[in-house]
Amino acid sequence: MTQPYRGRFAPSPTGPLHAGSLVAALASWLDARVHGGQWLVRIEDVDRPRCVPGVDEQILGQLAACGLLPDEPPQWQSQRDASYQQALDQLVAHGLAYPCACSRKDIEMALRALGRERPRHSELVYPGTCRGGLHGKPARAWRLRVAPGVLPWTDRRLGEQRQDVEQEVGDFVLKRADGLFAYQLAVVVDDAAQGITHVVRGEDLADNTPRQLLLQRALGLPQPIYLHTPLVLGANGEKLSKQNGAPALELNAPQAALAAAAAVLGLP
Ligand code: GLU
Repeated sequence: MTQPYRGRFAPSPTGPLHAGSLVAALASWLDARVHGGQWLVRIEDVDRPRCVPGVDEQILGQLAACGLLPDEPPQWQSQRDASYQQALDQLVAHGLAYPCACSRKDIEMALRALGRERPRHSELVYPGTCRGGLHGKPARAWRLRVAPGVLPWTDRRLGEQRQDVEQEVGDFVLKRADGLFAYQLAVVVDDAAQGITHVVRGEDLADNTPRQLLLQRALGLPQPIYLHTPLVLGANGEKLSKQNGAPALELNAPQAALAAAAAVLGLP
């Protein structure tokens, strides 16, 4: 028997919803409705220093103004540290996660020494310095041990995708040096805990998917089906984002905002 459809919208409360994030919200809501499924909202406030107080409630208000009402009470990641720690402990117990003593500078220096200065977006490919132990240095972060090889996966809109996570990302962070859990771990633990069967989210997150698939396998969790929605570009051709100052959705004109989001999705 197939599991009943459960989808979600998982905004980070770093800024209010804008025309771009509404596309992902509307797409995930519509997909849930079309499948006769449930639609949840999860506030992804795991990266606490980047969160703006009050924006979580603002986002919930914006969604409600657009008629996008979750079928269950929203969940906040900031209340879920115990579950993330449990998942990390499980990975450590299976030898799949290890402590890392490297600062960003250490990683840059190690890559330079290897002749591999290749920043990927702003991230650095971790060269595996602490895989073999800390050699007396204090642990700062925890990383997943990534096996070599290309990981193929299928996106409902983008089709066949592939990523060599070891080569393109490296052993990635699960718990950061500041003690906060990384998005990759939190999202995987929560999607499983909430029984999410279908993830519908913006295309800018597509290249995180292979890391999440690896984590799901490592933790023995079910794998949702993924669909990444088109991004909304601003007048300058760049993707609309909170970082580049996309204006917040107007709560007094939800119909117009929804119509614009539907147009991006190619809906009449
Ligand atoms: N919290 C992430 C964001 O707002 C989305 C995570 C997800 O949908 O998997 O960019």
